Amino acid sequence: MDAEQFREHAHKMVDFIADYYKTIENFPVLSQVQPGYLRNMLPDSAPNHPESLDDIFNDVQAKILPGVTHWQSPNYFAYYPSNSSIAGFLGEMLSAGLNIVGFSWITSPAATELEMIVLDWLAKLLKLPDEFLSAGQGGGVIQGTASEAVLVVLLAARDKVLRRLSKNALEKIVVYASDQTHSAVQKACQIAGIHPENCRLLKTESSTNYALSPDVLCEAIAHDVAIGLVPFFLCATIAGIHPENCRLLKTEFSTDYALSPDILCEAIAHDVAIGLVPFFLCATVGTTSSTAVDPLLALGKIAKSNGMWFHVDAAYAGSACICPEYRQYIDGVEEADSFNMNAHKWFLTNFDCSALWVKDRTALVQSLSTNPEFLKNKASQANMVVDYKDWQIPLGRRFRSLKLWMVLRLYGIENLQCYIRNHIKLAEHFEGLVAQDPRFEVVTPRIFSLVCFRLLPPRNNEDNDKKLNNDLLEAINSTGKIFISHTVLSGKYILRFAIGAPLTEERHVTAAWKVLQDEASVLLGRL
Ligand code: PLP
Repeated sequence: MDAEQFREHAHKMVDFIADYYKTIENFPVLSQVQPGYLRNMLPDSAPNHPESLDDIFNDVQAKILPGVTHWQSPNYFAYYPSNSSIAGFLGEMLSAGLNIVGFSWITSPAATELEMIVLDWLAKLLKLPDEFLSAGQGGGVIQGTASEAVLVVLLAARDKVLRRLSKNALEKIVVYASDQTHSAVQKACQIAGIHPENCRLLKTESSTNYALSPDVLCEAIAHDVAIGLVPFFLCATIAGIHPENCRLLKTEFSTDYALSPDILCEAIAHDVAIGLVPFFLCATVGTTSSTAVDPLLALGKIAKSNGMWFHVDAAYAGSACICPEYRQYIDGVEEADSFNMNAHKWFLTNFDCSALWVKDRTALVQSLSTNPEFLKNKASQANMVVDYKDWQIPLGRRFRSLKLWMVLRLYGIENLQCYIRNHIKLAEHFEGLVAQDPRFEVVTPRIFSLVCFRLLPPRNNEDNDKKLNNDLLEAINSTGKIFISHTVLSGKYILRFAIGAPLTEERHVTAAWKVLQDEASVLLGRL
C-alpha cells in the first residue's frame, strides 16, 4: 500500500461519506428500484485495467445509491435500528486499517485482550452477574449476529446433553422458546440437527392490561397496617371515608406476548412423560414483533430445575438495560447460562457487533475447538490464553472490539444512557399521537422505542383489516418519505414504528405521523 495514495483516496472517501450523511434526508428512505436493476447498468466482467476513483464515485452516485435503503436516515423506522456513529465508524476504520485476523491470541494479542476487557466493561454496565465476566469460568465474545450467538450456545448445550446421554440421543432432545422468538432459533435448530418436531415454539397470548396486581395490594395493606390504619373495604368509593384513606393503587400493563412459565412447565412435563429430554430454553427480552419481555426469573428457574441450558436473547432491548430504570427487564438474568445483545442495533456501534456472554466457556470450547498442527503455538498449548476461534463458527475474525471500545470511550456511559432515553421519549411521543387519532389504535403496550399500531377498519369493513393496513404500509413506503415495517400479532396485521436511528429528532417523528395520517385519509376516503 502506498501510504500517500491511501491518504488522498481515504480523504476523498471520508468527504463522500460526510456529504452522504449531510444530504441523507434527500434520498427515498426505502430504495425504489426494481429487482435486477443493477445488471444492465454495470459491465458483464471486471475491468482489465485500473479505473479512477472519481469514475467509481460517479457510479456509486448514479447506480449504487439508488439501490440503497437508507438505514441511517432519520426517517427510517423499520425493523429494528442498526446504528452507526462517528465513534463506531472510526473503530471500523482502524480495524480495516490494521486488518488483522485475530483467531488465536498469538495472531494479535491486543485483539483478544481488548475484546475480553471491553465485554467485561459492557457486562458491568448491564449489571450482568459476575459469572459472565472473563475473570472466572465465563466471559464475553463478539459474534457477527444474534443468530450466530444462539447457534454457538445451542451447539454447546447440545453437545453437553449428548455427553450425558449418548450420541444417538439427538432425536430425543428438545428446544423450547415462544412463538414470538426470532426465527434465528429455528435456524440454529436446523443447523444443529435438532429433530424439527423437537423445536417447541410455545404459544403466547396478549394478556389483560391495567389489572390490579395482588402483590401491589398486599404491599399497600402491609404498609397501612404497619402505620396503624385498618384496611376494611376493597374496590369502592364510599361517602364519609377520609379522602387520604382511599388508596387508588397503581396498575401496570402486564407484558403481552411473553412466554408463560405455566405453559413451559406443561410442555416440559409432556415431553418428559413421552421419553424426550428438554435441554435448551431461549427467552427473549424485547421480541422482534412487539418487544415482549419473557419473565426471565421464573423461566430460568424452570430451566435450571430441568437441567436445561438457558439462553437470553436481548438482541434489541439489551441496550436499554444500561439505564437503571430499564435494567429491571433483565432481572432474572442470574439464572441464564448465556446472554446476548446486539451492540450494532441500538448502541451506536456500526454493524456487525453482537455481544455474547457465557458462564461456562468450556462448554463452547468443547463444541467448537479444533487444534490443527498449523495453528499450534506456545501460549495456546499451555492454556494460558483465550483463543476466540474456539468460541465461534469461522476461524478468522476481525478486530471488532475496537469500535465498541471507541463507542464506550467517546460517548461515555451518561451520553449512551441519554441516547437510549431520548429514543424512548420519541416513541412515547409517537404513541401519544397515535392514541389521539380515533382512526388508529396502539396494539401492544410500548416498553422501549417500538410502537405497534394499526389503522382500524371502518364499520362494515372489518374483513378488510389486513388489506387496509397492508395498503397503508405499501403506500407509506412508496412515498420514500419514511420507511416502516409490519408484523402479525394474534392474526392481525400490525404496523411497527421503531425509533432508533441516531439522527432522528422529534420533528421527524411528528412529520412521519403526518405522512401516516395523510395516507390513511386517502385510503379511508376510497372505501
Ligand atoms: N433476536 C431478536 C430479538 C431480534 O430482534 C433479531 C433481529 O432483529 C435477531 C435475534 C436476529 O438478529 P441478527 O441479525 O443479529 O442475527
